[in-house]
Amino acid sequence: MAAAIQPTEHVASYYAATANEQTDYPILRGSVSADICIVGAGFTGVATALNLAERGYSVAVVEANRVGWGASGRNGGQLIAGGLGESKFAARYGDGIADMLWEMHWRGNDIICDRVKKHAIDCDLKFGYIEVALRQRHIDDFHEQCEAFERNDFPYEYRLVPRDELPDIVGTSAYIGGLINMRNGHLHPLNLCIGEAQAAESLGVKFFEQSPVTRIEHGPRPRVVTVTGHVEAGTVVLAGNAYHALERKHLSGLTFPAGSYIIATEPLGPAVTQRINPQDLAVCDMNEVVDYYRMSADGRLLFGGRCNYSGRDPSSIRKTLMPRMIKIYPELANARIEYEWGGKIGIVVNRIPLLGRINDNVYYSQGYSGHGVNGTHIAAEIIADAIGGTLERFDLFAKINRFRVPLGQWFGNQMVALGMIYYRLRDLM
Ligand SMILES: Cc1cc2nc3c(=O)[nH]c(=O)nc-3n(C[C@H](O)[C@H](O)[C@H](O)COP(=O)(O)OP(=O)(O)OC[C@H]3O[C@@H](n4cnc5c(N)ncnc54)[C@H](O)[C@@H]3O)c2cc1C
Repeated sequence: MAAAIQPTEHVASYYAATANEQTDYPILRGSVSADICIVGAGFTGVATALNLAERGYSVAVVEANRVGWGASGRNGGQLIAGGLGESKFAARYGDGIADMLWEMHWRGNDIICDRVKKHAIDCDLKFGYIEVALRQRHIDDFHEQCEAFERNDFPYEYRLVPRDELPDIVGTSAYIGGLINMRNGHLHPLNLCIGEAQAAESLGVKFFEQSPVTRIEHGPRPRVVTVTGHVEAGTVVLAGNAYHALERKHLSGLTFPAGSYIIATEPLGPAVTQRINPQDLAVCDMNEVVDYYRMSADGRLLFGGRCNYSGRDPSSIRKTLMPRMIKIYPELANARIEYEWGGKIGIVVNRIPLLGRINDNVYYSQGYSGHGVNGTHIAAEIIADAIGGTLERFDLFAKINRFRVPLGQWFGNQMVALGMIYYRLRDLM
């Protein structure tokens, strides 16, 4: 049995301070019955619930804290296609599934754009993203991406940016090249999550908050149990990602929690914004341990990065991230930092999200390795398809051999940390 989590409110992030609504769904009490019960109301849980409700299932979502409380309501808001380990799938399954992988790569963007439009979700969605290079091998990667765009008749605007143009686009000469892609972009993730939950609720999904699930009782109709109640359902979906400790027998040693952190400056005003990001692009460097940043709707720089793979949070987030930010934008040395926060991402050693099921009726989807705004929405569709009987994409994931670290989470985190030191050294070379 997992130790009971104490429910808490949102962390003091820029997103929580600018949420469209404070959700206040009831605590789960007594007995509830549904076709499907989902544990966790981040993007994985909420997007799966919405998908299943659209197909006519009755769905209950049980959340330990609040809708979007975890990584989904705290992330960088960078909407970047992929994140499914596509290149590894290609190596494993061959060219025969190349078209399916390309379609899957962009599918999350499509789902999010359609939902925002259909349900009029106010989440500051903007298109425009630039990847920036620090090494020649990053530029080589850009050329490979452009070849894939050409091969697949990519219908959206993209463009290689030479070094001398970058200061006009990202306001810094820290990089040696860039690749702009207008199908990716950025958004307010907590407002997206809350908006999708409202859409799901309008289709009959029942949400319960402040209701940590303590165990799953398996059987033909598994029970999802909290201290004050339970949901009995034909199928259960575990969507707690790096925050849940359920089903350790099956899931321990497969995903590891790592910290990622963000600072938000005061609103910088139009003159600075015009200088540092006139096209309002999401920016991400090409290192393995990435710096990612963008402007918020009210003109703050939201600057994130510096993952912590050892399981220990830094003593000061702003002291950890400020030097990185100032290296890129020295003019922000005196900008006030008004918010600082972090959250947990779920790392999988081979960087392929962990989708699978236990006893045929308890599904799980987790471990997007820091790239989950898009990935969660694709995974949600794949899980909903699988529950509906279409297993083609689900089986791709379920058949991947997984590397299980045998000695528990602490040891696993140290291994992931060691692996990341290797990548960090590569970044520096
Ligand atoms: C600081 C940060 C920056 C990031 N930046 C980006 C980015 O810019 N772009 C990108 O694509 N990805 C980014 N990510 C990753 C992305 O946010 C995640 O991959 C994604 O949100 C995972 O969604 P999820 O629903 O699976 O998990 P979460 O959003 O973490 O949700 C899990 C939910 O399950 C609940 N839960 C856990 N255990 C239980 C239980 N026992 N009972 C009931 N409920 C439970 C939790 O309370 C939580 O609400 C970032 C992550 C972080 C932390």
